[in-house]
Formats: sequence, structure tokens, C-alpha cells
Amino acid sequence: MKEVGFEEFNTHAVWKFMEPQKGEFDFAVIDQVLEVAASEGMRVFLSVHPLPDPRWFHMKYAGDGMVDRRGRPAYPRNRVALCWDNPHFREHCTEFIQALVNRYKSAPPLAYWNAWTEPNWIGGSPVYPSVDYDQLTCYCPYTAEKWSEWLRAKYGDVDRVNAAWRIGYGAGELGDWSDVTPPTALPGQWGSYRAWLDWRAFIDDRLTDLVQWVSDTIKATDGNHPTHSNLLFQSAVYNPTILGCDVAKMAGAVDILGSSVYVRSTAGERPELLAQTVDVLRSAASRYSRSCWVTEYQAGPIIWSHDRAVVPTPDDLFLAPFQAIAHGAKGFYYWMWRPRMDAENGGWEQAEYGMTGKDGTLRDRAVRAGAAGRFIRDHEKLILSATYTPRVAILRSQALYHLSFGEVIDEIGANRELPVGDARRFYTDSVLGAYRLLWEEKIPVGFVTPDDILLGRLKDYAVLVMPFAYMLSEAVGAKISDFARGGGVVVADFGCAMKNEVGAVYPRSPGAGLADVFGAEEFDVASDERAIRLEPGTADASEPVRTHMLRSVLRADSGAVVIGKYEDGASAVTLHEYGRGAGILVGTLIFRGYQVSSDPATRAFVRHLVGVRGEVSPVTISGLASDLRVKVEASVLTTETGELLIAINHNSCRVVATADVKTSSREAWDLMRDAAMPVESREGGVCITLPLEASGVAVIRL
Ligand SMILES: [Zn+2]
Repeated sequence: MKEVGFEEFNTHAVWKFMEPQKGEFDFAVIDQVLEVAASEGMRVFLSVHPLPDPRWFHMKYAGDGMVDRRGRPAYPRNRVALCWDNPHFREHCTEFIQALVNRYKSAPPLAYWNAWTEPNWIGGSPVYPSVDYDQLTCYCPYTAEKWSEWLRAKYGDVDRVNAAWRIGYGAGELGDWSDVTPPTALPGQWGSYRAWLDWRAFIDDRLTDLVQWVSDTIKATDGNHPTHSNLLFQSAVYNPTILGCDVAKMAGAVDILGSSVYVRSTAGERPELLAQTVDVLRSAASRYSRSCWVTEYQAGPIIWSHDRAVVPTPDDLFLAPFQAIAHGAKGFYYWMWRPRMDAENGGWEQAEYGMTGKDGTLRDRAVRAGAAGRFIRDHEKLILSATYTPRVAILRSQALYHLSFGEVIDEIGANRELPVGDARRFYTDSVLGAYRLLWEEKIPVGFVTPDDILLGRLKDYAVLVMPFAYMLSEAVGAKISDFARGGGVVVADFGCAMKNEVGAVYPRSPGAGLADVFGAEEFDVASDERAIRLEPGTADASEPVRTHMLRSVLRADSGAVVIGKYEDGASAVTLHEYGRGAGILVGTLIFRGYQVSSDPATRAFVRHLVGVRGEVSPVTISGLASDLRVKVEASVLTTETGELLIAINHNSCRVVATADVKTSSREAWDLMRDAAMPVESREGGVCITLPLEASGVAVIRL
């Protein structure tokens, strides 16, 4: 490891193996690993695994374990899935964590603690094809008790729960707290909206509380080393409801937020998904002034686990950390060094993932990954202190994920990439589509939650993009109006603010006061596909944009300009000057349409809208055919002395691109070749010719 350029590695302390009898600890394996690390001068990232639990505990305390929505044991397996709301769990596991932390807190190689690896409620891999609505957890008595406590803390008395949940019509009201049970009917089955949203917010809270508990237990014994948790990347880019993991909440539970990222084996060649994961994590961590990592990145073969059998190339392993850094990540680990070979737990995942042979001999993957690490460390001061500051925010709402899942419109898309067709995965796909479009246009993006908006965090942005934001509270709507009044641009598509936070429909659509911002409202809805003809001067007006699935016929105020019309002349897109800013309303599901079609006319149109009040990207790539251009990633970070341009060619062929970068510098230094690059001065920046090999990376200091 050391020889090829690695400096740190992750190792795992599992309760089941390390406390084989109550109070008898066996840390021999970890002792040995830390000894080797110390003698080689390497640092160790030590992961605490409270699960699986030891046999002595399991037999006595695990009980029936987690229970699913149908009242069955969750995820049938030989061993019940211990519920972490079982109070015996924390009581006994605390002693293990304390013993572990006490033993190693002063060990010189120790660098970080991992409080929890891939926290989620489905008890294992999210890629089980069988995970569905009925497997939502947890409905066990321990979790139900915590649910009751959560509601008491939120509402105080039962009548307020009845009022908030809008249960009534003479049936279903709660008489007293003993009537409170976890809701089993989804909103899509005529269940209460508010009860569902409360329940899922509670489930997210329980998982956050779990990770926070481990982190706090570590910190109570070791005040020096930071704590970490790596989420599943599905929590960041797909619908996180079934996983029960809220990235924004998790960011507050540990010092460094990370993610496992297995894009190829889950979604195929979708390079933007690693970028999106990092952008979601970085945005969440920034609220606490904390940093983010990619904590697991596929380093070797996947043969039978996940959705696709795929092996990353050495170049893939070289490229990935640069992509993470280009979006503001500050750490990067691969999974794994040697292929997985578990003595105890054979079967699934065995022989997968390694970047070396089974005997630890090097493969090119290990050499190239090490080379990336060595380069980054050689330029550590410059690269890791560089900051990434997007001017465009995408609204990302956990409640919207929950509601669209509960309404059964985010079908199948719980946690993975599946064929979309006519499925109504509106919310997940709309956010994916908005992100991919902006990524392809090299527009840096941050993600804001409704809470971020209430906290005033829109002040950091010039543009707010609201993909299928169909539920919005009056309070968040008022803050968005303030943002536009103060100079911000708001871009929304079909369905914007149709419902309030209890699922009730606003009298005008968009509601929450936003019809005033857009200077337009919905007059009627249709589902026949139409072309939208753009007014001259709006993107490439010769290319019509197609509607996707649903379209609003808009009625514009006299102050709004209709910049796109359906073929029959009805209003499709409006632009409204509002205060010092503007509101733009697109009548159709433009972002989901893009996710499905990748239509270049749609991309050019949205690019135009997002930049309508000024350029929002520090770099433009040109000189390439459109299909090649979109796969050249380019990112500009700010350093103490200027800028850092990171360019990555995700195409499978060599390209020579032209990069126009905003900068006051008139010089460029190619850090990989350690040589000056010719630049042409331009108004407000420089123009650089960038030759990039297939899967090539350029890091250029300006
Ligand atoms: Zn439970």
C-alpha cells in the first residue's frame, strides 16, 4: 500500500467478533493492524460496527427484531434483524464502544473514527430487488414507543395530533396516546398526509439519533479524533424514504460526512452521480461548517452483488478522487485493497472489490489509485484548501421525497436506477434531471433544503431551481419571494407549490405566494404532448422544446412576458421581473423530461433560463460536438492566490477542448505535466486549449 502511494486505510471493529462473551473483549486483530500501521507510518481510519451483535446478546435480548409494514419480521434471514430502538442494544453496546475507544484513542496511527457505515433502515444492502413499499420499517413495539414519545414532544396533546393529521369524518381520531400506532396506510392509500410525513421524519430522526449516539459515545471517551459516517449514495441521489436516511440531519451527527459510491454497478456509466452525491453531502455539511468525503469507491470487480457486473479500469480509479475534489470533497477512500475474503461470512460479495490480487500482489488498479493519492498529497496545501462556491441552488426536500413515495408516484425508484418509461417517478427523476443538465453545462450547484431556506441560506446563491417542487409551506414560499425581490432568479416547472405542508391544495397554483413572483398561474392542465415554441432571443428559438407527460396552460399577468407558447398559442413559459430579481415558470415537467430524453433543445433552453440574469458558471467548454462536450467535466475552485481548474474527460476517446475560464490570472500551470500552458487573454478571463486523453484528468493552476 505504502509503496504505491497510500497513506491511510480503513479497518473494522465489529461488536459480534470483539466481545464474544459479555465483558470479555478480544481486540487482537485490531492490535495487530495498528502495530503494522505504526511500523509502516500509516494512518488508520477505524470503523465501529455495533452490528451484527454478539451471540450472547442476540439470544437473550434481540427478541423478534424489526417488523415491517405488514407485521412480518423484516428481511427474512436466519437471524432476526435487531432493532436499534431495542433499549438493551444501547445499554450493552456502550460498553463495547467505550472499551474499544479507550484502547485505541492514544494509538499513534489512529486518525478518525467511523461511527456507522452505511446507515439505513432496510437492514442490509439497498439493492435487494425485493425491497418494496411493504418492507418499510420499523413497526416493532420499541420503535412504536419512540414514535409515541416523538409525537408527545411535537404536539403535546392528542387533540393537536388529530387536528394536524386531519383525520376525521367521524372515524380514525385518536382518543388518547394509547391509540397512537405507526401509520400503515400510505397517502396513496388514503392515509393521512401529515401522519405519513411525521412518521417518515421520525424514522429519519431515529437513524440520525443512532449515528449521533455512537459518535457521542466515542467523543465522551476520546475528545481528540473526529467522527465520521458514510451514507449510502442512494440516500443522496435517489428517493431516500425506504432507507430512512436524511442527509441534512446526518450532517449534524458527525464531524465529517461521507458516502459509499457505487455508481457503475448500480446505474451504469453515469459520471454525474458521483458529482451529485458530493454536492448533496457538501451542501449538507456546510450548514455545520463541516467537510465531506467519498468513503467507499468501487475499486475492483463486482460480479454478483449490486445490479451490474462491472470492473472499473485503472483510469477510472485514477479519475474518481479528482472528480470528488472538483466538487469540494476533502477525502477519498477506495473499497477495497484486497478482494473480499471473509472467513466467517462466505457467499455474497466474496472475491469482489479488490484492487490487488487475493494474495495482495499489485494490479494496475492499485498502482493508478496510489498515483492519484500521491499527486493529491504532493499538492495537498493547494488542492485541499481550495473552495467551491456554486451560485445556483437546487431545492432538495426530504419531505417531498417522502410525500412522492407515499403518494406512490415515486414508483419503484426507492433507491436505484431503473427503466423509467411511463412510470411516474416525478420527484426523484426531476431532481436527477435538473442536476445532470446543469452538470453537463458546467454550472456549479449546491442543494438547499426547505430548512436551509428558512435559515436564510439562499443569500449564498443567485438562482434557485425548483424541480417538481409540488409541496411547499407558506413560510418557505415567503422566503423564496424575499429572495426574488432581493435580486434572485427563481426557476420552477410543472406542479410548483400545488400543495401546502399538510397536503392541502392552495387556491392558486403556484401557491405559497409564488404566483406573484412568477406573475402567472395555472389555468388548466393537459397531458397531450406538445411542442413549446420559444420567443426569439430565448435560447435557440428555432428548436422547439417538447412537453413531458403533463403541462399547465398558464395565465400570465400583464407584467409577465410569455417566452414560450404551445402550438395553439397558449402560454407555456413565463418570465416575470419581480423586485430586483425574476421568476420563471415552465408549464411542463421540464427536468424529468430531460432526465428521460436528454434532449439538447431542452438543455439549451434551461441553460438560457438559469443564466438569464448573468453568467452562473466560471468555465465554458467549447470546440467539441455536443455529445462529447457534455461529458467533459470542468470545475473551478478558488485558491488563496487564484483559481484551480479541474477538467475530466468522461468520454472513451481523446478530445481537444477549449476552456474559457473566468480569472484575473493571465498564466496557467499544468500541475500534472508540471509545465506552463499557453493561454489567450479574454475579457474577464483566459482561454486554454485542453487536450484530454480518454478518462484523462487535467489540474491547472491559474
Ligand atoms: Zn423497531
